[in-house]
Amino acid sequence: MIDESAVNGGAVTDDSAVVDEDAVREVYLDYNASAPLDERVLQEMLPMMSGAVGNASSVHRFGRRQAAAVDDAREHVAALVGGRPAGVVFTSGATEANNLALQGIAAAVEAQAPRLLVSAVEHASVSRTARRLADRGSVKLDVIPVASEGFVEPTEVAEMLGGDVAAVSVMAANSETGVLNPVAEIAELAHAAGALFHCDATQMAGRLPFDMQALGADLVSLSGHKICGPTGVGALVGARGSLRRLEALIHGGGHERGLRSGSLNVAGIVGLGVAARIAADERAEESATVAALRDRLVSELRACLPAVQQNGDPARRLPNTANLRFVGADAEAVMSGMDPVAVSIGSACSAGSIEPSEVLVAMGLSHEAAFESVRFSLGRFTTGADIDIAVRATVAAVERVRAMNA
Ligand code: PMP
Repeated sequence: MIDESAVNGGAVTDDSAVVDEDAVREVYLDYNASAPLDERVLQEMLPMMSGAVGNASSVHRFGRRQAAAVDDAREHVAALVGGRPAGVVFTSGATEANNLALQGIAAAVEAQAPRLLVSAVEHASVSRTARRLADRGSVKLDVIPVASEGFVEPTEVAEMLGGDVAAVSVMAANSETGVLNPVAEIAELAHAAGALFHCDATQMAGRLPFDMQALGADLVSLSGHKICGPTGVGALVGARGSLRRLEALIHGGGHERGLRSGSLNVAGIVGLGVAARIAADERAEESATVAALRDRLVSELRACLPAVQQNGDPARRLPNTANLRFVGADAEAVMSGMDPVAVSIGSACSAGSIEPSEVLVAMGLSHEAAFESVRFSLGRFTTGADIDIAVRATVAAVERVRAMNA
């Protein structure tokens, strides 16, 4: 269990706690997995959970108050990604938003056995959904390769497109490397071929400007807990006319324009709205601060350790993310040696064996290189002191693991 008083990098502090100088100080550098809930978000959610009564669909005054709070959130969520409030479909998170986009399109055009183009570095909620649709015969799936720097090249997309492509799905920023994709160019190509363009902006929204209208994205997914909002709430935002091209996956009372039935999670939605509002207001300043801390982390690690390589294009990536390979040091051993500094590694246990990160392998890294790569992701509450601790912990862990292998 996490001792909140020792958590740095979290929004929750306990001033009354007796500070134990010897206590291990936890440092959280795993924002891309889940960012801490901002105290300001929590404060606006609490009344919705304790005092508020009523179903947002009810026509009486209690229901109308709930619906007004949802509408307010809809405005903030739409504004964060340059969308229309009427295009926001609230979901349980980006996983559901991605499923609704891909499965929803496939269900609507299944009879034509269309093609779906999906990049090789998508989150599992896109890549596995697409594979499942292809296995079922609902679509023909083509995977768009990425350059060794981690981004999709529009020329690859252009070569793969044709009149039979129903949709193209390419994420805005990759969760493992932070690398950004040329979304506007890909959207333009997709439209020229008559395809819908879906963009998973879960890691991008709130970190860098993202304007779906200017970029030409038809469907955009995002999630609360990546922007210091609550977990378990997100949205699919549709440009004008694009939601009509989807079929619902969840049927019932016809909520959310019939695309996502189920009584609305008002407290969660309010939290998502507040998180979106704060992210939009503070994004520019926060990104600059976070990028400076991330750059210091990387340069200090490189100064202290030989053979540190960066994965992904360092010039075209999120301000908060660094994916580093410590040559000769197994990432899992490094990560456990860094505890209580929290980072993450891309490899995952699949069917009983450890698999390297699909993202890093798609970029052409060897399995060995992928198994030696660690992701550091910073955010709103990361401090300079956190970076000092993280550098010391990483250097010690990498040196220990390398010495064991020597
Ligand atoms: N897409 C991306 C790019 C992500 O990073 C994540 C979360 N790791 C998701 C989708 C899924 O989001 P959620 O946890 O809200 O389902």
